[in-house]
Amino acid sequence: MTRFDVGIVGGGIGGAALGQYLARHGLRVLIAEREAVFRDRVRGEWMAPWGVAELKRLGLYERFLAAGGHHIRRQVGYDELLSAAEAEAREIPVHLLHPDIPGPLALEHVVMQNEALAAAADAGVDVRRGVSAKLTGKAGDYGLAISGAEGGETVACRWVVGADGRSSAIRRALGLTLNEAPLDHLIAGLLIDGADGWPEDQQSIGVFGDMQYLIFPQGNGKVRLYADYTYDGAARFNGENGAAAMLAAFDIPALPNSQAIARARPIGPCRSYPSQDAWVDEPVVEGALLIGDAGGYNDPILGQGLSVTLRDARIVGELFVGHDTWCRETFAPYIAERRERLRRLRAAAAFVTTLNGRYGTEDKARRERAFASMASSSQPMHPGFAAYVGPEALPAELFEPEYYEAVFGTRRYFVA
Ligand SMILES: Cc1cc2nc3c(=O)[nH]c(=O)nc-3n(C[C@H](O)[C@H](O)[C@H](O)COP(=O)(O)OP(=O)(O)OC[C@H]3O[C@@H](n4cnc5c(N)ncnc54)[C@H](O)[C@@H]3O)c2cc1C
Repeated sequence: MTRFDVGIVGGGIGGAALGQYLARHGLRVLIAEREAVFRDRVRGEWMAPWGVAELKRLGLYERFLAAGGHHIRRQVGYDELLSAAEAEAREIPVHLLHPDIPGPLALEHVVMQNEALAAAADAGVDVRRGVSAKLTGKAGDYGLAISGAEGGETVACRWVVGADGRSSAIRRALGLTLNEAPLDHLIAGLLIDGADGWPEDQQSIGVFGDMQYLIFPQGNGKVRLYADYTYDGAARFNGENGAAAMLAAFDIPALPNSQAIARARPIGPCRSYPSQDAWVDEPVVEGALLIGDAGGYNDPILGQGLSVTLRDARIVGELFVGHDTWCRETFAPYIAERRERLRRLRAAAAFVTTLNGRYGTEDKARRERAFASMASSSQPMHPGFAAYVGPEALPAELFEPEYYEAVFGTRRYFVA
């Protein structure tokens, strides 16, 4: 039977980033990836500056830049509570928020996946595409059964990594529970081209009507749009006319340059996903562990999934490489750091959703009070800034219910 040091299920950003790191450090690695060709599934294309720092440590930054990675420099939060001039006066220079990184990095997700998996193959990983992998064996002695069009094979692995995404079968096979925050929002995404009138160095996030809009330019007229909205039992922007309906929703007279968005051309599917947090308390058992979405994820409204996944890959990679033998205890630092990281990001997502994601009359009044309270606060950052600098870089009290209550006057929607 073929024997690997580490068998990774899933060759998305997480599995590929980890695999290439391990192989460059001399380990024998297998990656099994179900998709023979990646396609747009409406996933992350905005990488937070702290995630870009992880990308650098994993050795993939230059490769992503060469493939078209585009840095964003400014956040202008046009919003129904502000005039355009007020929003522009509050511009956030996002290229200055992280000491080493010139702003968030925007790039098509499929391009990132292809680059990361090519880097893994270049590093010597045995990459198998178009195959499905299943867990075999028992705790402490797991292997993988791999099947594809050309037949099947069972391989032995010293350790198995589940990097198989949101609906991870490895997570289920290991019997690990996914905790979920209440679901009351959805997020829709659409990639467009030909948005040439939208400023290429400027992202915008804000609220108009019953939708939080997010606009992330990728350079050369490409822009990734997201829309976050209340879930009332039905998804918006679905079906044959979904993309057209989404573009129409971005035709907002009070949003400067929105015409450039509304007149652009959809170049991918338009889909909605739960805008919700989910987490596994301990994503490590004897002989196997989870990284990335498989181990639970932050509400996509904060755009943290790529960064969370890359940090998982970097920490787990360093622990594998730094120890000759591996047991559950080897990965205790990963369990502890990830638990607190996701807890803080949950609190940050609850904060941002309360600020920007509720649209009743009472919610609007609460937003107005919160805007005023934050503008007069001596604390220059709020929990939403974790989305740029990383949750560990902000004071711990910002992620506590007391801070949330001081801003919103209630703890009603706080999640931790
Ligand atoms: C709507 C939406 C918007 C988002 N926006 C952002 C954003 O702006 N910024 C950000 O940072 N993050 C964002 N994210 C999150 C981000 O995309 C994910 O966190 C990230 O892609 C997770 O990577 P992963 O490698 O863990 O999982 P995936 O990318 O899901 O990779 C898992 C891989 O495993 C493969 N696989 C699954 N099962 C098997 C099997 N049995 N055998 C073999 N292969 C298998 C799949 O084919 C897949 O390629 C968003 C997510 C959503 C849903």
